[in-house]
Amino acid sequence: MKLLVATTNQGKLLELRQLLGPLDLEVLGLEQLDHPPAVEEDGKTFKDNAMKKALSLARFCGFLTLADDSGLCVDALDGAPGVISARYAGENADDRANNARLIKELRQIPLTRRRARFHCCIALAWPDGRCYTVEGQVDGFIIDEERGTNGFGYDPLFLVPEYGKTMAELPAETKNRISHRGRALKQLLPLIEELIQP
Ligand code: IMP
Repeated sequence: MKLLVATTNQGKLLELRQLLGPLDLEVLGLEQLDHPPAVEEDGKTFKDNAMKKALSLARFCGFLTLADDSGLCVDALDGAPGVISARYAGENADDRANNARLIKELRQIPLTRRRARFHCCIALAWPDGRCYTVEGQVDGFIIDEERGTNGFGYDPLFLVPEYGKTMAELPAETKNRISHRGRALKQLLPLIEELIQP
């Protein structure tokens, strides 16, 4: 069975491929489709955006489609950057620019008040318009300097207290086990397993 993972974010695609690896599925990325539609992420919540991406692409490609909408929410910034995490430093901002803005916004805030969480909503959509969603979170703190080279996005600034390491210092298997994305997808695996049974 084919499953489209509707993302252009290579970090997310890699992690989702690793998490879906044990299943008997042909996982396709957007680059394997001919001119897929660009979906504007204009929803107010992660769930709105994940559903919109999954449903649009499932209708377009004609098979089961999974989309992840995720981001970082910092308590001291009233939940920012939230749904605009990918564009925090501007429309075409890269990870480096987004991280630099985050450090700047938090410069007056002591570490103990830098509680944050990664949030992920994953939507699984069928071409006929059915859609199922799951969510996952992981808690941490934002530090002042990037540490580690694994992962992507805000990982080098996100300290996971249980490990005393940033998400970017943890091996991929550990991140996949504890991350917002790993926790969300874990809830979806039994349904996908059921769907691929002959
Ligand atoms: P989306 O494509 O709108 O879902 O944007 C996701 C953005 O949230 C990414 O570009 C990252 O900035 C951030 N993000 C989501 N998940 C992670 C993660 O696992 N690690 C680090 N940053 C993440």
